[in-house]
Amino acid sequence: MASDIYGFKSELLLGISVDGGEREKSLELRKSSSVTETILANENYRGNHPFQWMGRLISSLIERIGEHEVYEEFRASKFRKVPKAVLAIPMRDVDFVFFLSHMHTHGNTLDMGKHRCSECRKNDLIEADLSTLKVKRSEEDMSSEFGVQLRTGFLREAGSNPQENLPYMGKVWNKYFFRPVTLGDHIRHEEYYSPNNRVNFNMRVIGDALVRVESWGEVDGVWHKLADLEEGSMQMEGMELVDSLDSADRGLIRGAFARLPHLDFMYTHECNHCSSDMKLDVDPTNFHPMVK
Ligand SMILES: [Zn+2]
Repeated sequence: MASDIYGFKSELLLGISVDGGEREKSLELRKSSSVTETILANENYRGNHPFQWMGRLISSLIERIGEHEVYEEFRASKFRKVPKAVLAIPMRDVDFVFFLSHMHTHGNTLDMGKHRCSECRKNDLIEADLSTLKVKRSEEDMSSEFGVQLRTGFLREAGSNPQENLPYMGKVWNKYFFRPVTLGDHIRHEEYYSPNNRVNFNMRVIGDALVRVESWGEVDGVWHKLADLEEGSMQMEGMELVDSLDSADRGLIRGAFARLPHLDFMYTHECNHCSSDMKLDVDPTNFHPMVK
């Protein structure tokens, strides 16, 4: 059963669904161990397979999610194969698990080093109390899918020869539905990851999480659905559905993903000299140091 970790319920924010099964959130953590340290120290694997590495790391920290045994399965594969339940963890929940796991093993404090107060200009040594961080929840349930109304949308112009045209051509496709991106998605696209090209990598992963597309428009002054994009047409366009959108629409999509429930890493510290509030971001890679 979900226990408390410094006031945080030990459960995922979005949860997992394995093979279309029921969504599960309850999380039983293991303390960081020699297995975790061995994976952490493998710089070479981390550099070449950053998300596989992250998957192994997190598998060493989870006993089970709901009914799914994680550590036992991971151990049985000699700590190589990332269990299915872990592949299904939404990326936002991955950060959250590392955060909970840090507190579960090390306690609720994190040394953040010296920072200069913008009011009194004096340096302050900051030890963050992680239990004061806040979870940001979404207004709607975004756990299985969520819609994004685009401004311009996708249009495949119809050609001059009507016989070569498909029914979806010439229509504006402007409402996209996505599911949250998972760790498994990141692992699947890992070869395209480069620290210098995160935007393209993120959009590639997001494009893969596109579940359906609709065409919306105004008819007699009322905004409503005009058509569904057929599966075959969706497959035919593939990444073009996201790649060819303008930056305003791509921004709307990124904005929707940013609204998924997550831990807000903004930490407020009261200056020891002048008592004014200092706002600092806790770097989530403190909990899972990423490739440089
Ligand atoms: Zn100050």
